[in-house]
Amino acid sequence: MLIGLCGGICSGKHAIAEYLTQHQGFHLLGLKNRNYPQMSDEPGNRVQLQSSEASGQGNAPSAEVVFENVDLLLEFVTKRWREFWVTTDIWDGATLDRLIQRPFFLLVSVDAPVSLRWKRFTDRCRERQIETPALEEFVIWNDRHLYDRDIGRAYLTDRAQARLFNSSSSLDELHAALKTLDLADEQRLRPNWDQYFMQLASLAAQRSNCMKRRVGCVLVRERRVISTGYNGTPRHLKNCNEGGCPRCNCGAGGGVGLSTCLCIHAEENALLEAGKERIREGAILYCDTCPCLTCTVKIAQVGIFEVVYSQGYNMDQESAAILESAGVRLRQFSPPRNGLIYLQNLENTRPE
Ligand SMILES: [Zn+2]
Ligand SMILES: [Zn+2]
Ligand SMILES: [Zn+2]
Repeated sequence: MLIGLCGGICSGKHAIAEYLTQHQGFHLLGLKNRNYPQMSDEPGNRVQLQSSEASGQGNAPSAEVVFENVDLLLEFVTKRWREFWVTTDIWDGATLDRLIQRPFFLLVSVDAPVSLRWKRFTDRCRERQIETPALEEFVIWNDRHLYDRDIGRAYLTDRAQARLFNSSSSLDELHAALKTLDLADEQRLRPNWDQYFMQLASLAAQRSNCMKRRVGCVLVRERRVISTGYNGTPRHLKNCNEGGCPRCNCGAGGGVGLSTCLCIHAEENALLEAGKERIREGAILYCDTCPCLTCTVKIAQVGIFEVVYSQGYNMDQESAAILESAGVRLRQFSPPRNGLIYLQNLENTRPE
């Protein structure tokens, strides 16, 4: 596994790299920076800080091996990918393009409030007896570091597979959060089957044209997709979002007037698409929303083995009761969120 850490000045990415090397068996790899332009107009004393990237909390650890280019780094890690490697030297988009193609690579971004990063920066300056910058000066510098069209890093952090928000005020707090988070968990590299099919269901939902709610569904047997479906009006009819269903467009609450609705539900579409012949034994229905009653009875009738859903709807208990008496298994699975992970109160918010 190779973790790449990227983020703003004093966001704490070196502190995280240090934690990984000291507590989770990672080794730090360096990559020479040949093309990344230096901020030449910065005062000289600041450049010194910048070169160690003003690591936020803790001093920047030094790399065990430093590579001339990303290809050599990748060659090295490819042969040793079962070991744990970390780098903070992703200098540009081209480097990231090469890294992110590999199945053992995970990009982690680190961010923190500007006020806190400024405080960490001024603390660092004081430690080294260097004149501290004004907040405004720091903000301008920081904006360039992240958003400058030529050298800004925002396009790197934007592609991160895990985004950490590091507002912790001490290293102990940061370490405790990182321990709970366990960045080295291999599941971060590759989705498991539940995650994979639920994400396909969410993708199908994006094709929905129903004004009421986007829903997507995937029918699976022996880990192969039999069919997919999303909700909307039947073929040749005007799409729901173009006025095709008067009921969905009138703005009444969820579940009201369902019998006059022209939209076919995602589950119905997936079942119709597959046909009873192909559903057979052991078929699993993945749906991003818990099926409604009318879908539930159809699911029972065609002989679906299990229903997996991620979000609740407004008749979950009734649906669950029907499925139970029909002998269909029902399970909720919510894929891990890709959004911002707040490090400082992880214990309370960690989805499991
Ligand atoms: Zn509709
Ligand atoms: Zn409708
Ligand atoms: Zn339904």
